[in-house]
Amino acid sequence: MDFEQYRKHGKEMVDYIADYLQNIRNRRVLPNVKPGYMRQLVPDTAPHEGEDWNVIMNDIERVIMPGITHWQSPYMHAYFPALNSFPSLLGDMLADAINCIGFTWASSPAATELETIVMDWLGKMIGLPSEFLHSNKQTMGGGVIQTTASDCTFVTLLAARSDAIRHYRANNEDLDDAEVNARLVAYCSDQAHSSVEKAGLIGLVKMRFLPSDEHLSLRGDTLQRAVDEDLAAGLIPFYLCATVGTTGACAFDSLKEIGPICEAEGIWMHIDAAYAGTAFICPEYRHFMSGVEHAQSFAFNPSKWMMVHFDCSAMWVKNSGALHRTFNVDPLYLKHENSGAAIDYMHWQIGLSRRFRALKLWFVIRSFGVEGLQKHVREGVRLAKYFEAKVRSDTRFEIPADRHLGMVVFRVKGDNARTEILLQRLNRTGKLHMVPAAIKGKYIIRFTVTSQYTTESDIDRDWKIIQDIHSKIQRDESESLDDDVFVETHEKEPVKESDQTSWKKSREFGMSLVLSNVVPMSPKLINGSYAAFFDNMVEFAKGITSTEYTGRPIRLSPRRRVHLRDQSKQQSLDIEYLSGNRNHGCFKQGSLDSKVEEILESYSNGSYVIKYPNDLSALNEHDEGENQLTIAVPERKIVTYGDTDKKKKVETRDASNGVRMFCKHCGHPVDVDD
Ligand code: PLP
Repeated sequence: MDFEQYRKHGKEMVDYIADYLQNIRNRRVLPNVKPGYMRQLVPDTAPHEGEDWNVIMNDIERVIMPGITHWQSPYMHAYFPALNSFPSLLGDMLADAINCIGFTWASSPAATELETIVMDWLGKMIGLPSEFLHSNKQTMGGGVIQTTASDCTFVTLLAARSDAIRHYRANNEDLDDAEVNARLVAYCSDQAHSSVEKAGLIGLVKMRFLPSDEHLSLRGDTLQRAVDEDLAAGLIPFYLCATVGTTGACAFDSLKEIGPICEAEGIWMHIDAAYAGTAFICPEYRHFMSGVEHAQSFAFNPSKWMMVHFDCSAMWVKNSGALHRTFNVDPLYLKHENSGAAIDYMHWQIGLSRRFRALKLWFVIRSFGVEGLQKHVREGVRLAKYFEAKVRSDTRFEIPADRHLGMVVFRVKGDNARTEILLQRLNRTGKLHMVPAAIKGKYIIRFTVTSQYTTESDIDRDWKIIQDIHSKIQRDESESLDDDVFVETHEKEPVKESDQTSWKKSREFGMSLVLSNVVPMSPKLINGSYAAFFDNMVEFAKGITSTEYTGRPIRLSPRRRVHLRDQSKQQSLDIEYLSGNRNHGCFKQGSLDSKVEEILESYSNGSYVIKYPNDLSALNEHDEGENQLTIAVPERKIVTYGDTDKKKKVETRDASNGVRMFCKHCGHPVDVDD
């Protein structure tokens, strides 16, 4: 493509994008494709010769659009918003063209300087204390753009960890880094996003999930009790991730109560306001962040509600020294004349390279102005209240948690299965899209107002669909009262075996959610930067994995194998099991292998027969029976998982080798002496 062709096709692309966004209501929000759908639409090998641009563009509608979930649709109510806007798109178009990789000031001064300026603008816009701003010469505070809120949590946890280790070693010279690390304990509430758990897992620290109160808020007395217990047990509380606007129900931890405790106990308080942060542009919502002055760091995602498209996570720290100490490496090739005199953002993040994301943020803030952004937030909240009023007016439904900001959680009165089947049916229509969450054992549907183009009539339409489908379900139920199996009649599809199975499962409160929050129990990898932190990584690894200071074995961020119906911890949200379109076997790297033991766990009363393969990639199919799970594989090795729930290892017999042990969690063989 030459310059002239680029000018022509670039304009065509802008038109395509404008048409796409303008007419997005005409598309089903959730695609109707099965895993592997695209393989049939594109060749197996890359073209040898370059193709005509028009041919490539034609494939957007043929190949790509059928598999797109339309996040910009006003009928998208799942997750949190992930909005774009024209100034944002144009900002990134230019940033992509410039494509400077601003890891140091010198690698592109404008990228670094604009980032510090817009992060100060944004900090002031949401009412952050001035200690968090670059312009405050009394502190080493300032803001940085990270890729995701998960990164912000992980980065601040690592910074807090290195601070804590440094601090404790200064007073206890006989302790080494590994011994201090083994005693570190971090906190979050049972409503925190799964990324907090992940930060603990990969940061190699214990993460303690504290129970939230009846408003799903983490309170001071709960934290104080946990800290006291842990101190008495010889542990070192060092980090707390407070959530302001939780994923499940947009609840708020009590920063005013937990903040002073963190300060008194020397705990780094990080605030994760991924979604809610945008609302603080409006002064009337800032009471939710009252207590922020006690935090060491604060993060929110303009890439969610603020119409700055992904990726853009704004993170501020009061003292960037901890980041520098954690991430500072100084190779000669990255030095420049102004090293030390200007910010080098490579020391504020894990990776080296970084995009010029400040440009789209700058464009959005200037183009909408603070007033325009406030108007956008207030309209989203108004429409959420409008939806809430509709739900409240229908006595078949209930709202089990307070509505906050632009999100309403609701459910069908009665047992959880009713709500789960309603959500499954709604998503299957493709006309609107929502995801579930669990609140204190209740299965709920989250309804988020996402798009800036959503109108009252969009909400009217969506609510009517919800009511109509629920009425249909009620009619179907009453027609088949004696029938143990829910019969699918919607859209006149024949009843399929898989639908019947899914109904049986939903009565158990949802395999959908049980299976949605799976993190594989494969061995944890320790990244190189962490290894560099310690002189002797091998000794360190031995130290933290074998014993703690009391000589007892320790577990790093122990994963609780809970059953959803009993649990209160928030699950991450996953549509795969809601769509009812499960189709294993299309991908070698499908998530079946990581889910096997969750399935086993949920069928915990019996024994299971697994034909265990030598090569996990050979897994291609599974059938579930009442009390057993069989995985059909070419190799024939029998592993019996007995009814030994409390044991981590299960004795197995292998035809060739005699007795062998397998880890119940990852399924891999372990030495008998282990
Ligand atoms: N924290 C909260 C409260 C969230 O709601 C989410 C996602 O919705 C995250 C963290 C993860 O955000 P990210 O995808 O930017 O890592």
